[in-house]
Amino acid sequence: MTATADSTNAASTANSIPEVIFLGTGTSVGVPAIGCDCDVCQSTDPRNNRTRCSILIRLPEGNLLIDTPPDLRTQLLREKIKLVHAVVFTHEHADHIYGLDDVRLFPFRLGRPVPLYCRADVEARIRTSYDYAFSQREQTHAGSRPQLEILSINNDDPFEVLGARVAPVPLKHGPHFEVLGFRLGDFAYCTDTNHISESSKDRLRGLDTLVLDALRFTPHPTHFNIEEALEMIEELAPRQAFLTHLGHDIDHGPVEASLPDHVHLAYDGLRLPMPSIA
Ligand SMILES: [Zn+2]
Ligand SMILES: [Zn+2]
Ligand SMILES: [Zn+2]
Repeated sequence: MTATADSTNAASTANSIPEVIFLGTGTSVGVPAIGCDCDVCQSTDPRNNRTRCSILIRLPEGNLLIDTPPDLRTQLLREKIKLVHAVVFTHEHADHIYGLDDVRLFPFRLGRPVPLYCRADVEARIRTSYDYAFSQREQTHAGSRPQLEILSINNDDPFEVLGARVAPVPLKHGPHFEVLGFRLGDFAYCTDTNHISESSKDRLRGLDTLVLDALRFTPHPTHFNIEEALEMIEELAPRQAFLTHLGHDIDHGPVEASLPDHVHLAYDGLRLPMPSIA
């Protein structure tokens, strides 16, 4: 790989129709889980094959990725995404950040480091886990390590990315941990949560589309289960909702059929037209 090999693609950024692509919809170990013989892990329904959680939003000014899961390379190849222009992070858990090295090719095409929008706690984890990316030592060759630019965000201040206004939504992820959901216009992505404060609920009213965590049927200390997610969807009243971060308890066909008409299971590769991003 050389610096010139892909530079001709640098200008091919425009997305005529904004859309959301579910790159991954699985829980932290993925589905199938390694070594599991259950019916869902052995299923031939491709919608039961779930890589780790991420979405890509094709905005008019480029591709915005939410999280860099360990499956990122295969997800981008599968969806034929040639370039990511910016990344925002929900939180620092391994299933959401340990594919970050896969952005290494993009600076050649962007002509600059990849912008990463994250809170200070996520920045600290990235700087620790990817210390080689921030080394002052001269690179042995171009592209030998990821070129990253960290841009700080916080719980309250909306920020502008690729022509879209992104509003952070703080969410509880178990008793001791907080993550960010994100709202772009009438669309919101809220994974890895089992509690939403009243002030955050106020940021999630009037949505067209809500994507919400729903791990399994039984309760879990850090994720909504299906019942809790449905209650939250009823309270927030989006026009439609999609459940993600799904585990191997969720057999896509029968569970999808059991949900209310306006609630669906997300699946890897699902594409939705992006509602208003204004
Ligand atoms: Zn997760
Ligand atoms: Zn299983
Ligand atoms: Zn998590």
